[in-house]
Amino acid sequence: MEKRVSKSKKQLNHKTTKFLHSSHSFYYLLFFMILFIGISILLYFHASSLKKQYSTREMEISELKKQLKKEKKEYQVLVDDYHKYQNLDSSIEDIKKNYFKKIKEMEDAIIRGESDKKIAYLTFDDGPYYNTYRIFDILDQYDVKATFFTTNINGEYCYDNKSENCWIRYPEYLKKGHTIANHTYTHAIFRGLYNSTDSFMDAVVKQEDLVKELTGGYVTNILRFPGGSPTAKNLKDPIIERLRERGYGWVDWNAKDGDGGRLDSREQAWDIFTSSIDENIEVILFHDYNGITTEILPDAIDYLKNNGYQMFPLFYESNMIHK
Ligand SMILES: [Zn+2]
Repeated sequence: MEKRVSKSKKQLNHKTTKFLHSSHSFYYLLFFMILFIGISILLYFHASSLKKQYSTREMEISELKKQLKKEKKEYQVLVDDYHKYQNLDSSIEDIKKNYFKKIKEMEDAIIRGESDKKIAYLTFDDGPYYNTYRIFDILDQYDVKATFFTTNINGEYCYDNKSENCWIRYPEYLKKGHTIANHTYTHAIFRGLYNSTDSFMDAVVKQEDLVKELTGGYVTNILRFPGGSPTAKNLKDPIIERLRERGYGWVDWNAKDGDGGRLDSREQAWDIFTSSIDENIEVILFHDYNGITTEILPDAIDYLKNNGYQMFPLFYESNMIHK
């Protein structure tokens, strides 16, 4: 009896175990199914968010491509402009060269006695000075081009109120066709300029650098000795040799209004000026700082025009420039 009971107990145990086994598998299955579904949902959302991100990126990329295309186009326009302006600069250079060539031919004909034309080169020394701007204005008014032999001695004293650097208008007047030339940085006639060729050339190079810096690269190649070339005495020839090596020509003058010395009146300046105009090619010495010169300048220009002179800026190839 006991045996039967234990047998049926054993059977029951077996069934329970079997049941339990099958119920475990079910839960495992259920668990994995839930896990699978969970992971699938997560993957789905992740994938759709990636998709979203992807399409946003795609839009950004196409936007950037569009932008790049536009910028490339704008860049191309800039490059074209740059080349255009570069060519413009070289064509201005060509016009200038041609202009100087024509003046040189005119000079040659005058010198050979084959032309009754006359030329006057107005030159202004020792600027910039605040008076320089009054001179610029008169030249504009009369549409006359001149030559400015610059130094650094008055550099900080432009305009009566000293509010503006003297050099500000020079690049503009260079573009208008005036010539900027070298009159040495220090102009120190009695304070060391003529001590040696080296001291002289130092002042030449310093002024050359200053002009280059303040005009955006213009290189001067015409010089006037402070005080005139005889002031250099026995250094004149060695200095000229050094100037030649550096590509410079130099010039004195054959007419003036006496404004470098003491002038007592407008009339005195006028008499000196008119009596000095006696050649077919004149290089006229004036000074930027002299108020009397500024006063007589309009009349002086009229006087030259009425006497058949054409006024030009000096240029390296001119017969008046010693090399
Ligand atoms: Zn001078």
